Amino acid sequence: MISKIIEQNLVNKIQEQIDENERFVIVSHVGPDGDAVGSSLAMWHFLTSQGKQAIVIIPNAIPSFYKWMPGAEQILIYENDKELADKKLSEAEVVFVMDLNERRRMNILANAVVDSPAPKIMIDHHLYPDEFAKIIVSYPEIASTSELVFHLICQMGNFQDINLACAECIYAGMMTDTGGFSYNSNSKDIYNIISELLNIGIDKDDIFRKVYNNYSENRMRLTGYALHRKMKIYPQYHTALITLTRRELEQFQYDTGDAEGLVNLPLSIEGIIFAVFMREESDKIKLSFRSQGTFPCNVYAREVFRGGGHLNASGGESYSGMQKTILKFENSLPKYEEMLKNSV
Ligand code: 5GP
Ligand code: MN
Repeated sequence: MISKIIEQNLVNKIQEQIDENERFVIVSHVGPDGDAVGSSLAMWHFLTSQGKQAIVIIPNAIPSFYKWMPGAEQILIYENDKELADKKLSEAEVVFVMDLNERRRMNILANAVVDSPAPKIMIDHHLYPDEFAKIIVSYPEIASTSELVFHLICQMGNFQDINLACAECIYAGMMTDTGGFSYNSNSKDIYNIISELLNIGIDKDDIFRKVYNNYSENRMRLTGYALHRKMKIYPQYHTALITLTRRELEQFQYDTGDAEGLVNLPLSIEGIIFAVFMREESDKIKLSFRSQGTFPCNVYAREVFRGGGHLNASGGESYSGMQKTILKFENSLPKYEEMLKNSV
């Protein structure tokens, strides 16, 4: 039996919006991950199955290992197709905002979404949702937005409309936001849902292979280089840092998503409970934080780099260049020494 997670009053309001409107836009966050793409496409498949017009718009490129998801070919990348995307947003009657809690996470797409006259429906699992949406479905205790989409469709009474394509997208989002069900994944509901998705016909082993066993040679060599040459361990703080400059990324012909998951690898080292990854972009350093146990990455990200996220996975940005960012990080560690030591 799968729990009814979403407050019924919210479900009814969303149902009403779907029943009363025809044109929908679905948006998600910059640097889309498997849950951003999966939950957006799952929503797209569902709306399409209801005979609605829908389109997914994402700020920037999707990693190649998510492009197999059914429907991915119709996604508009705002960076490449601004005019058409703006038109779709201005014509939309409802905008679904998936897997993000703050307008900032939509990056270059943010203004067009917030300014669109259409009511926004946020479906998300990050703490502290921003108030720009009319309907906010925010459940931080749920491991993925894709799981929430499954709950939403079921609670609307439309389980039978989840087709194979929709089920595959839901599974991909659930799998990637839990690292292949290796963290944040003790809820029984997750496995009850997977059982339903298997009934619909998903091949979970095949989805795993398409996402995780799909490296380019360059990506694998970049991973090796990062671990061998660019990982620094701070034993006193149970912490590891990996940094990659633009130049290094270029050496390995970096493609979107090639560094995804790299931040998790140092957590496999005995005694490491906090892992940090810094990747240089053209105008900033993108920061990723991961932890094991009770050390709150989101608090760290917020206090030190004005970022945010979940307890064990968070992120942020820095505009002060690689060397200064590394110094700031190193100087911040003593303040967290006790928390890092006591993380269980
Ligand atoms: P990632 O390291 O995969 O980019 O991000 C991990 C998580 O941290 C995301 O799911 C998101 O919740 C959060 N996150 C990443 N970057 C930022 C950021 O710049 N600001 C905030 N507030 N959260 C972020
Ligand atoms: Mn997510």
